[in-house]
Amino acid sequence: MAAAAEFIKGNEPYAAQFGDKKSLVISPRKCVAIVTCMDGRLDPAAHLGLKEGDAAVIRNAGGLVSEALRSLIISQRLLGTREVAVFHHTDCGMLHFNTPQLRNIVKDAAPGDADIAARIDAIDFHEFSDVEESIKKDVEWLKEQPLIPEDIAITGWVYEVETGKVRQVV
Ligand SMILES: [Zn+2]
Repeated sequence: MAAAAEFIKGNEPYAAQFGDKKSLVISPRKCVAIVTCMDGRLDPAAHLGLKEGDAAVIRNAGGLVSEALRSLIISQRLLGTREVAVFHHTDCGMLHFNTPQLRNIVKDAAPGDADIAARIDAIDFHEFSDVEESIKKDVEWLKEQPLIPEDIAITGWVYEVETGKVRQVV
Protein backbone atom coordinates (compact mmCIF):
# COMPACT_ATOMS: atom_id res chain seq x y z
CA MET A 1 0.00 0.00 0.00
CA ALA A 2 3.03 2.29 0.10
CA ALA A 3 2.38 3.71 -3.38
CA ALA A 4 -1.38 3.93 -2.92
CA ALA A 5 -0.94 5.82 0.34
CA GLU A 6 0.57 8.71 -1.62
CA PHE A 7 -2.25 9.06 -4.15
CA ILE A 8 -4.36 11.57 -2.24
CA LYS A 9 -1.42 13.92 -1.80
CA GLY A 10 -0.24 13.36 -5.37
CA ASN A 11 -3.68 14.22 -6.70
CA GLU A 12 -3.97 17.57 -4.94
CA PRO A 13 -2.10 19.78 -7.44
CA TYR A 14 -3.94 18.19 -10.36
CA ALA A 15 -7.37 18.58 -8.80
CA ALA A 16 -6.54 22.17 -7.84
CA GLN A 17 -5.94 22.99 -11.52
CA PHE A 18 -8.75 20.84 -12.91
CA GLY A 19 -10.46 23.90 -14.39
CA ASP A 20 -13.41 23.23 -16.70
CA LYS A 21 -12.54 19.61 -17.54
CA LYS A 22 -15.88 18.48 -16.14
CA SER A 23 -17.33 19.63 -19.45
CA LEU A 24 -15.37 16.97 -21.38
CA VAL A 25 -17.49 14.29 -23.06
CA ILE A 26 -16.96 10.53 -23.04
CA SER A 27 -16.21 10.21 -26.79
CA PRO A 28 -12.56 11.00 -27.64
CA ARG A 29 -12.31 14.38 -29.41
CA LYS A 30 -9.70 13.15 -31.92
CA CYS A 31 -11.67 9.97 -32.64
CA VAL A 32 -8.56 7.86 -32.08
CA ALA A 33 -7.80 4.82 -29.94
CA ILE A 34 -4.19 4.25 -28.91
CA VAL A 35 -3.00 0.78 -27.92
CA THR A 36 0.25 0.80 -26.00
CA CYS A 37 2.28 -0.96 -23.33
CA MET A 38 1.67 -0.73 -19.59
CA ASP A 39 5.37 0.11 -19.05
CA GLY A 40 5.64 2.91 -16.47
CA ARG A 41 8.24 4.75 -18.57
CA LEU A 42 5.60 5.47 -21.21
CA ASP A 43 3.39 8.53 -20.82
CA PRO A 44 1.35 8.48 -24.05
CA ALA A 45 -0.43 11.78 -23.37
CA ALA A 46 2.89 13.54 -22.79
CA HIS A 47 4.85 12.01 -25.64
CA LEU A 48 2.03 12.41 -28.18
CA GLY A 49 0.87 15.85 -27.13
CA LEU A 50 -2.59 14.68 -26.08
CA LYS A 51 -4.88 16.29 -23.56
CA GLU A 52 -7.67 14.84 -21.45
CA GLY A 53 -10.59 13.94 -23.67
CA ASP A 54 -8.51 13.62 -26.88
CA ALA A 55 -8.06 9.85 -27.18
CA ALA A 56 -8.98 6.44 -25.81
CA VAL A 57 -5.78 4.87 -24.46
CA ILE A 58 -5.73 1.09 -24.02
CA ARG A 59 -2.77 -0.36 -22.20
CA ASN A 60 -1.55 -3.88 -21.49
CA ALA A 61 1.74 -5.78 -21.32
CA GLY A 62 3.37 -5.12 -24.69
CA GLY A 63 0.49 -3.12 -26.18
CA LEU A 64 -0.92 -6.26 -27.80
CA VAL A 65 -3.95 -5.71 -30.01
CA SER A 66 -5.47 -9.15 -29.42
CA GLU A 67 -5.82 -8.34 -25.72
CA ALA A 68 -7.13 -4.85 -26.58
CA LEU A 69 -9.87 -6.08 -28.92
CA ARG A 70 -12.68 -5.88 -26.37
CA SER A 71 -11.82 -2.24 -25.61
CA LEU A 72 -11.36 -1.37 -29.29
CA ILE A 73 -14.83 -2.64 -30.15
CA ILE A 74 -16.30 -0.50 -27.37
CA SER A 75 -14.33 2.57 -28.49
CA GLN A 76 -15.36 2.13 -32.14
CA ARG A 77 -18.99 1.06 -31.84
CA LEU A 78 -20.00 3.12 -28.80
CA LEU A 79 -17.52 6.01 -28.57
CA GLY A 80 -17.00 6.77 -32.25
CA THR A 81 -13.26 6.23 -32.70
CA ARG A 82 -12.29 5.86 -36.38
CA GLU A 83 -8.56 5.35 -36.06
CA VAL A 84 -6.24 2.97 -34.17
CA ALA A 85 -2.59 3.73 -33.47
CA VAL A 86 -0.64 0.78 -32.06
CA PHE A 87 2.56 1.49 -30.13
CA HIS A 88 5.20 -1.02 -29.07
CA HIS A 89 8.48 0.21 -27.61
CA THR A 90 12.19 -0.47 -27.37
CA ASP A 91 13.46 -2.41 -24.32
CA CYS A 92 9.93 -3.74 -23.72
CA GLY A 93 9.60 -6.33 -20.98
CA MET A 94 8.01 -8.59 -23.61
CA LEU A 95 11.47 -8.93 -25.19
CA HIS A 96 13.02 -10.23 -21.97
CA PHE A 97 11.13 -13.41 -21.05
CA ASN A 98 9.27 -16.28 -22.61
CA THR A 99 6.01 -18.01 -21.78
CA PRO A 100 7.56 -21.25 -20.39
CA GLN A 101 9.75 -19.21 -18.00
CA LEU A 102 6.82 -17.24 -16.65
CA ARG A 103 4.69 -20.35 -16.30
CA ASN A 104 7.49 -21.91 -14.25
CA ILE A 105 7.72 -18.87 -11.97
CA VAL A 106 4.01 -19.19 -11.18
CA LYS A 107 4.20 -22.98 -10.74
CA ASP A 108 7.30 -22.77 -8.53
CA ALA A 109 5.39 -20.39 -6.24
CA ALA A 110 2.65 -23.01 -5.79
CA PRO A 111 4.45 -26.38 -5.70
CA GLY A 112 2.22 -29.36 -6.48
CA ASP A 113 -0.87 -27.23 -7.12
CA ALA A 114 -2.41 -28.83 -10.21
CA ASP A 115 -5.14 -26.20 -10.49
CA ILE A 116 -2.62 -23.36 -10.63
CA ALA A 117 -0.52 -25.33 -13.12
CA ALA A 118 -3.50 -25.93 -15.42
CA ARG A 119 -4.58 -22.30 -15.23
CA ILE A 120 -1.17 -20.84 -16.02
CA ASP A 121 -0.55 -23.39 -18.79
CA ALA A 122 -3.72 -22.09 -20.48
CA ILE A 123 -2.26 -18.57 -20.81
CA ASP A 124 0.04 -17.64 -23.70
CA PHE A 125 1.87 -14.43 -22.78
CA HIS A 126 2.63 -13.54 -26.42
CA GLU A 127 6.17 -12.37 -25.82
CA PHE A 128 8.09 -11.14 -28.86
CA SER A 129 11.73 -10.97 -29.93
CA ASP A 130 11.72 -8.05 -32.41
CA VAL A 131 9.77 -4.87 -31.76
CA GLU A 132 9.40 -3.86 -35.43
CA GLU A 133 8.21 -7.32 -36.41
CA SER A 134 5.77 -7.41 -33.51
CA ILE A 135 4.23 -4.07 -34.48
CA LYS A 136 3.83 -5.21 -38.11
CA LYS A 137 2.28 -8.45 -36.93
CA ASP A 138 -0.19 -6.66 -34.64
CA VAL A 139 -1.27 -4.18 -37.34
CA GLU A 140 -1.75 -7.07 -39.76
CA TRP A 141 -3.79 -8.95 -37.14
CA LEU A 142 -6.06 -5.93 -36.66
CA LYS A 143 -6.52 -5.37 -40.41
CA GLU A 144 -7.62 -8.98 -40.79
CA GLN A 145 -9.88 -8.88 -37.73
CA PRO A 146 -13.51 -9.18 -38.91
CA LEU A 147 -14.80 -7.26 -35.87
CA ILE A 148 -12.82 -4.14 -36.84
CA PRO A 149 -14.65 -2.17 -39.58
CA GLU A 150 -12.83 -1.94 -42.93
CA ASP A 151 -12.71 1.87 -42.89
CA ILE A 152 -10.87 2.16 -39.57
CA ALA A 153 -7.42 3.64 -40.21
CA ILE A 154 -4.68 1.58 -38.51
CA THR A 155 -1.08 2.65 -38.01
CA GLY A 156 1.82 1.02 -36.13
CA TRP A 157 4.52 2.86 -34.21
CA VAL A 158 7.60 2.36 -32.07
CA TYR A 159 8.30 4.54 -29.05
CA GLU A 160 11.98 4.73 -28.08
CA VAL A 161 12.57 4.71 -24.33
CA GLU A 162 16.15 5.87 -25.00
CA THR A 163 15.23 9.11 -26.80
CA GLY A 164 11.54 9.82 -26.11
CA LYS A 165 10.94 9.80 -29.87
CA VAL A 166 8.20 7.97 -31.77
CA ARG A 167 8.51 6.61 -35.30
CA GLN A 168 5.90 5.15 -37.59
CA VAL A 169 6.60 1.60 -38.78
CA VAL A 170 3.42 0.90 -40.76
ZN1 LIG B 1 6.56 -2.75 -22.72
